[in-house]
Amino acid sequence: MITKDCICENISVSEDGTLLFAGHNTAELAEKYGTPLYLMDEDRIRERCRTYLGAVKEAFGDKGQVLYASKAASFKRICEIMKEEGMGIDVVSAGEIATARKAGFPLERAYFHSNNKTDADIRYAINCGVGYFVVDGPDELRAIQDVAEEMGRTQAVILRITPGIDPHTYEAVATGKVDCKFGSAIELGQAHEITELALSLPNVRLAGFHCHVGSQVFDSSVYIATVDVMVAFLADIRDRFGYETEQLDLGGGYGVRYVAEDPTIDIAAAIREVGVRVKEKVAEYGIPMPLISFEPGRSIVADSGMTLYTVGAVKKLPGYKNYVSVNGGMTDNPRFVLYGAEYTVVPAARMLDQRDMTCSVVGRCCESGDILQEEVSLPSDIRRGDLIAFMTTGAYQYSMASNYNRIPRPAVVMLSGGKHYLAVRRETLEDMLALDQ
Ligand SMILES: *Cc1c(COP(=O)(O)O)cnc(C)c1O
Repeated sequence: MITKDCICENISVSEDGTLLFAGHNTAELAEKYGTPLYLMDEDRIRERCRTYLGAVKEAFGDKGQVLYASKAASFKRICEIMKEEGMGIDVVSAGEIATARKAGFPLERAYFHSNNKTDADIRYAINCGVGYFVVDGPDELRAIQDVAEEMGRTQAVILRITPGIDPHTYEAVATGKVDCKFGSAIELGQAHEITELALSLPNVRLAGFHCHVGSQVFDSSVYIATVDVMVAFLADIRDRFGYETEQLDLGGGYGVRYVAEDPTIDIAAAIREVGVRVKEKVAEYGIPMPLISFEPGRSIVADSGMTLYTVGAVKKLPGYKNYVSVNGGMTDNPRFVLYGAEYTVVPAARMLDQRDMTCSVVGRCCESGDILQEEVSLPSDIRRGDLIAFMTTGAYQYSMASNYNRIPRPAVVMLSGGKHYLAVRRETLEDMLALDQ
């Protein structure tokens, strides 16, 4: 059955009150694989890729592509899925490049981001045949020139521009404003300076421009405003330097539903709207249509994920607060600690029980800030051994997991059709000790 907790189509509840994810019984999965456990709905991931690819094809024909921002969730299996679906990939470190490479991902379709690529990263990426570097600033551009020259290569680059747009999202993921560590700002003339520099370097080939205004963005007017600023910029660059842009990357950032109050974005409609605007603007300025890229991360994988925990302790403080401690925490999900991120949290094996207690669900780390969610409604007799599920955990959880308190990272289990399989095994104490000399 479908209850108010079922915030995504892949969530339902069985007659006996057990949460089902992608049709699988979560209690049975917890029993088989242990908790904490990350679940990922492979069919949903593929469906999201196809939604994006279909919409981009419809809006831009051959002049469009979709790059999966792998920082949202980076492991070999997910890169294999992206390869099979015909996505490009956005990587931000040698580690993410190595992961895509291990999956056999065609790295000529990789875009290498980050505001500080080390010389070793640059060398590694050029050696691996990474198609494009997304260059953050002039220091990096010169470093790429030096490494590429030394290697006798020419590297294609696109330049990250800050368009000066406020996406109205969490401060930590607002990246399009001028005052931000990423990119070269148009407003300060730095976008023009770095373009001129790129055009002057012999071992760098300028392929275009990039921008990314933020993450968890719901307001489609943000993207329209971005298109306006960026296409005007491309026209200005053409007028000043005679350079015609091949590629324009509009970044990622479309929001997803964490709680029932969040809207659902119609990705196809949003991309159609951007497509119309891009065509209008390039016609207005008389510039050839560049290859347009979208770089979604969260909206590809977030609602394909769910995390299962087991309750270990319940502490009730009359007149204060109630605490329910689970066997995970900020080590497997730091998003509440980082942004106060909201989640839908449910008692996975007792979905039909009355939830008559408000509590904070906290982790097991030695840190009183180790909170997973506040103001959660759970049954007042919730007890040690009960199962708790957090929804919409496919993005920025496994990829942000740490070993604080020497807690091993959970396994990632993929659900596909009637099957389930391990994509990443649970970390062991031996794995953690392996580095200690
Ligand atoms: C994080 C990031 C993305 C993906 O953002 P989502 O909100 O996950 O879609 C895309 N491009 C760049 C440059 C990013 O930093």
